[in-house]
Amino acid sequence: MFALKSCYYWAVEKSQNRNITVFGLGRSGLASVRYLKRLGFDIFVSDSAPKEKVSDAVQAELKKLSVECEFGGHTDQSLAKAQTCIVSPGMAPNLPIIEKARERGIEVISDIEFAARRAEMAKMPIVAVTGTNGKSTTTALISHILQEAGFNAPYCGNIGVPILEVLTQAEEGKKVDFLVAEVSSYQLEYCTDFAPKIGVWLNLTPDHLDWHQGLEPYIKAKQKLFYKQGMSSFAVLNFDDPIVIGTTTMAEIFPFSQKTELEGCIQGAYVSDQFICLRKNMQVHALCRVDQLKIKGAHNVENALAAASCALLLGVDAKVIAKALQSFTALEHRLEFIDTIDGIEFYNDSKATNTESTIKALEAFGNQKVILIAGGKDKGTALGDLATRVRQSTSAVILIGEAAERFNQNFSSMGVQNIHRVATLDAAVKLALDLKSGPVLLSPACASFDMFRDYEERGHVFKNIVRAKQKELASQAK
Ligand code: ADP
Repeated sequence: MFALKSCYYWAVEKSQNRNITVFGLGRSGLASVRYLKRLGFDIFVSDSAPKEKVSDAVQAELKKLSVECEFGGHTDQSLAKAQTCIVSPGMAPNLPIIEKARERGIEVISDIEFAARRAEMAKMPIVAVTGTNGKSTTTALISHILQEAGFNAPYCGNIGVPILEVLTQAEEGKKVDFLVAEVSSYQLEYCTDFAPKIGVWLNLTPDHLDWHQGLEPYIKAKQKLFYKQGMSSFAVLNFDDPIVIGTTTMAEIFPFSQKTELEGCIQGAYVSDQFICLRKNMQVHALCRVDQLKIKGAHNVENALAAASCALLLGVDAKVIAKALQSFTALEHRLEFIDTIDGIEFYNDSKATNTESTIKALEAFGNQKVILIAGGKDKGTALGDLATRVRQSTSAVILIGEAAERFNQNFSSMGVQNIHRVATLDAAVKLALDLKSGPVLLSPACASFDMFRDYEERGHVFKNIVRAKQKELASQAK
């Protein structure tokens, strides 16, 4: 479906800005450098990390590509020739260098914005997923359904491979039918014309408020997914969410809801008699029962409704959607079942980096009380709702990391019983095995950076401890 004609490309290329500065050498930054260099752009790279912190392999690659670089901070040199800046998602809009670029009239965009312009030229449709929670799961599920339907629809963006890496593969001849992209509010903040074929908004709760400088700018960034969409596009929106439901767009709205059957709407996705249903063109498709999904919890029903909606809008047969929904398993670090030790189940939900996602994880266990391991780098958000859910759903709480003190105080004052504090995940697992009062869930409600490189390292460490413990006890039993 997708093959670029190089002469056409060259013609379009000539009309674009040729001098681009890439800020930040993370995975997406590096992918931008490779992509731009391949197309012959003049690039300058600026990274806040000192040179010694940049791996030898990356330094060697930059040298081979003859890219001009600066490390250890962003100086005026980075803006000297720039017509466009592509910024890493980590860089907040109030950083002096970003403000300076804007003052000078330099375009400041994210890799997603740049990729979307290229994809549009190549007529490659993008399905873009945003929301405070559930983006990765939904993105992967959409990609899974489309692949099961015979399309090549890799997931990319914040999850897996950077979007420009997938575009490179497509431009080099690989068949790509759809780009399914997870898009964060950070990337959307730096979008100007992004208009995906389908935009999905799952939910919104307070998060990343320091970066956005408040809730309003955070909401506005999310809304950018829909501003530029035209009438031949779709907005898949969670009608259970009071903020998402207020979205303004020219796109055709395809709502989804777990709480209602969307009685007033001609189309949508909803749950009826425990069945996941899609309604479109006067037809209702009952896809499968909620309990036939392998992914646990009401939040994952939300993700399944959104993903099924996208697949239907892209023309996938309802039977194929139903089958694919039932074969999809949890992504790593998202309510991932690890193992059973001595009759106790262990789950890794290390990706739960905010309070809302931990609440959803606890709800997924229904009436069963769990031992919750939480804490880490504190985001400072309100803890009232989390404490209420923790009181209802846990037999014990084990707190770790910098947030332990504040969580302890809040939980205690809200009547949570059996709160323990330990220094390491290792000690947390040992204690949970001693307590033996239900399944053990690592769902931190915090970022990981006080003790780990990222949530993935935290999840891997936890899984390794659990598996080692399992082996140790199994060998003792022999
Ligand atoms: P994201 O990419 O937005 O961080 P993930 O799919 O990686 O979302 O899930 C992150 C965490 O959020 C998981 O640990 C899970 O418990 C929780 N979660 C997943 N989907 C939802 C949802 N729709 N609503 C609320 N929480 C969710």
